[in-house]
Amino acid sequence: MLELSTPVQYIKGVGPRIAEVLATKGISTVDDLLHYLPFRYEDRLNPRGISELRAGEMATVIGEVRNSGLFRTRRMPIFQLTVGQGRTRLRCLWFHGAYLQDKFTPGQMIALYGKVEQDRSGELQIIQPQFEILGDPSDGANGGAEKKAAESLEIGRIVPIYESAGQGRLTSRWFRRVIRTALENLNPDLPDPIPAIVRARLGLVSPREALWKVHWPEAGESFEDLQSSRTPAHLRLIFDELFFVELGLELKHRQQKAQTGIAFRLDDRVRAAIKKILPFHPTAAQKRVLKEIAADMEKPCPMRRLLQGDVGSGKTIVGFEAAIIAIENGCQVALMAPTEILAQQHYFSARRILENAGYKIVLLTGSLESDRKREIRRHLAQGNAQLVIGTHALLEEKVEFSRLGLVIVDEQHRFGVMQRLKLMKKTSEGEESSRASLDPAGSQTRPHTGPAEPDVLVMTATPIPRTLALTLYGDLDLSVLDELPPGRTPIVTRRIEDERSPEVWDFVRKQVAAGHQVYVVYPVIEENEESELKAAIKMYRELSGHVFADFKVGLLHGRLDPDLKDQVMRMFQKGELQILVATTVIEVGVDVPNATVMVIEHAERFGLAQLHQLRGRIGRGAAKSYCVLMTGGKVTEEGERRLDAMVRTSDGFQIAELDLELRGPGEFFGTRQAGMPSFRVANLIRDRQLLEAAKREAAAVIAGPNSEISPEELSRALVHMRVRWQSTYGLVEVG
Ligand code: ADP
Ligand code: MG
Repeated sequence: MLELSTPVQYIKGVGPRIAEVLATKGISTVDDLLHYLPFRYEDRLNPRGISELRAGEMATVIGEVRNSGLFRTRRMPIFQLTVGQGRTRLRCLWFHGAYLQDKFTPGQMIALYGKVEQDRSGELQIIQPQFEILGDPSDGANGGAEKKAAESLEIGRIVPIYESAGQGRLTSRWFRRVIRTALENLNPDLPDPIPAIVRARLGLVSPREALWKVHWPEAGESFEDLQSSRTPAHLRLIFDELFFVELGLELKHRQQKAQTGIAFRLDDRVRAAIKKILPFHPTAAQKRVLKEIAADMEKPCPMRRLLQGDVGSGKTIVGFEAAIIAIENGCQVALMAPTEILAQQHYFSARRILENAGYKIVLLTGSLESDRKREIRRHLAQGNAQLVIGTHALLEEKVEFSRLGLVIVDEQHRFGVMQRLKLMKKTSEGEESSRASLDPAGSQTRPHTGPAEPDVLVMTATPIPRTLALTLYGDLDLSVLDELPPGRTPIVTRRIEDERSPEVWDFVRKQVAAGHQVYVVYPVIEENEESELKAAIKMYRELSGHVFADFKVGLLHGRLDPDLKDQVMRMFQKGELQILVATTVIEVGVDVPNATVMVIEHAERFGLAQLHQLRGRIGRGAAKSYCVLMTGGKVTEEGERRLDAMVRTSDGFQIAELDLELRGPGEFFGTRQAGMPSFRVANLIRDRQLLEAAKREAAAVIAGPNSEISPEELSRALVHMRVRWQSTYGLVEVG
């Protein structure tokens, strides 16, 4: 008898060697195998008669191999196979098909799937069909009864088609049989970890039924629903997966709320301190968001809040305001940025804005000399510095704080989801290690007792589509800055072909003459032989030496020495450089309001989110700004859609939605590298509505036990969730 948790190698027909191959597909238990869903189905219940085929349709045909052979044309070898049904025949062709030469013998039954086409003489054929030899005597199933059973899995029903594994060694057919075996030997008592009330509300079928029917649909099942993963069986499995992710996030959220945090005091003195530093009138949105943040900070549980606001909406100052609340309460603040350039920029503006108030601010990045780092660490440990700004060196460099009260993470999307969860964990670990060094005098000034978790404010400019925000930030409260500071005029975005660059440079010239500054961005630093991309270094020479010889032009890219980077950036900020030739190092956060033109060469090479971020570098002041997307060479269809979206809208949310559609959630967040859990059966784009339902139901369940959910049901769900998180998301602990 198999349990869901049984390792796959114990399934008949698997064994340790094959288990290794399966592991590369993320399949290690029976449960994993049963969630390896068919990517499509074939209707072999009503296979098509060859005589009824129509050109242009996708069709499944079952027939008998008549003859086959390889013939060579001047360009390539082509393998030809003729199958027949009684007296009708159908030709199939495979280009470069030499590998098929010994595959078929006349008389074999074969299932074919592909697009029916008409050849020049009007005859129907299928080119490169997918195929399966049915009941081949050489494939090991030799006993007569066994062979019959195998055949009955292949024909006369709707048949699941799986992606093969192990370079084709484990075929779709192989999966079909092994999954069938697993289902047949599965313990029939599968408890349902989803509480009854939730099942009833969503009309969910049982896990057992779902697993059977998703692999072996019944004859009456809608073929369309099967192909689009909308059968009750599919919906059950998808909901199941999303529900337990959401349950974990909800629980995390609750646990965070239950921890001891710091109840910061927000009195008139603190309010006055904030007012004093403000360089401008905050927008209504900034005021509202600060209120939300302040309310969290006043509560005795730790804040876990996401501040979402499009590029240029003014998140920085909100972060600084929160910092003042913490500092005025005798605590330290850490502000983390994803790049050195951004950390430096924040450092300068923090000094400009906050230092007058007498706060001590330090910068800690990876490129500092170790002596300097040590000194800064000492200041932090002794409590001399109140605000530290840095890159993730802040986490890595064993920084100890005397009284860390608030952590602000800027442009968090650059960190990746798992990194964020780790980071949150680290923050609290960091706090733990600094508990010993908590200054007793200091803790008296804090209106709480016992060890305390610092507050965390996460800021992001990537407008996260609601679906993703729900999943990835389900453990955070959300604040949205949905208003731009006053006086901004919409950015004009144009797409221009490479050949017209002289016009673009003329335009740049006029803008510079009018006192503005310009970015020119390239996809690569240096040219190389294989690609024809224009590169920053070379174009810098050309632009500074010829085109704009009369202007001051700077160069900025990731490989420059940190000091030099810093110097160039500062010169551009002060207006000592008029044109900055750069790579995407300037992509996030950089804030030079006087810059009004963003020229992006080879714009077709950039991702949508990236283009939007780059465009966000301009339009930060009152003057009208222009984004010029230059394209050189061939633009793919997807590239066209990206450029088109950029020209059409500057609404970050719309852009994010489209980006998500084009790229899928993993890449959207750059999380593939950061180890974002990939879903086994759910698809965040396709299954948005189920995700929202899962979120809602998870919140309801966590609120139990109550009249709807019994204590047993609640604990069963939680146990199941923990096991799921442990096995699927590895490093992340919940509960
Ligand atoms: P982001 O949200 O992209 O981080 P920033 O915080 O860098 O945006 O702000 C963008 C620009 O707008 C900065 O130059 C900032 O000084 C300015 N700014 C922010 N808030 C206001 C405001 N309320 N009034 C005027 N200018 C503002
Ligand atoms: Mg910013």
